[in-house]
Amino acid sequence: MGQLSKIEWTEATWNPAVGCTKMSPACQNCYAEAMSHRLKAMGVNGYADGFKLTLLPERLADPMQRKRSTIYFVNPMNDLFHERIPASHIRQVFDVMKKAPQHAFQVLTKRADKGEGFVASYDASHHPYLAL
Ligand code: SF4
Repeated sequence: MGQLSKIEWTEATWNPAVGCTKMSPACQNCYAEAMSHRLKAMGVNGYADGFKLTLLPERLADPMQRKRSTIYFVNPMNDLFHERIPASHIRQVFDVMKKAPQHAFQVLTKRADKGEGFVASYDASHHPYLAL
């Protein structure tokens, strides 16, 4: 189902990928980077390579296992539109969001151009509230 979250503006987190690379001055104090190193030191599953970009396809279906309506923060330990995340993986993430209409999903990105391009090419016919 992903992890329940203490962040006030969401309810759960879902990380079908972790790790990232800095791409703007706004990345200087990246929370995900610091947390990834801590999780690696703790031996948490998925963080063996620390903050190195890692796809975790085994987590893709997690939200579909939760029936109760939940607000999900998607990829808080990553940027879904990172240049090395293939379109096929992003499409799978969006397909899960489409198949789990009981939930709301929050996708934050610093790579808005790639995100906008992807959304424009994606069949959003069953995403009545899809916006970027
Ligand atoms: S894009 Fe986000 S996750 Fe990636 S380095 Fe910058 S702040 Fe961190």
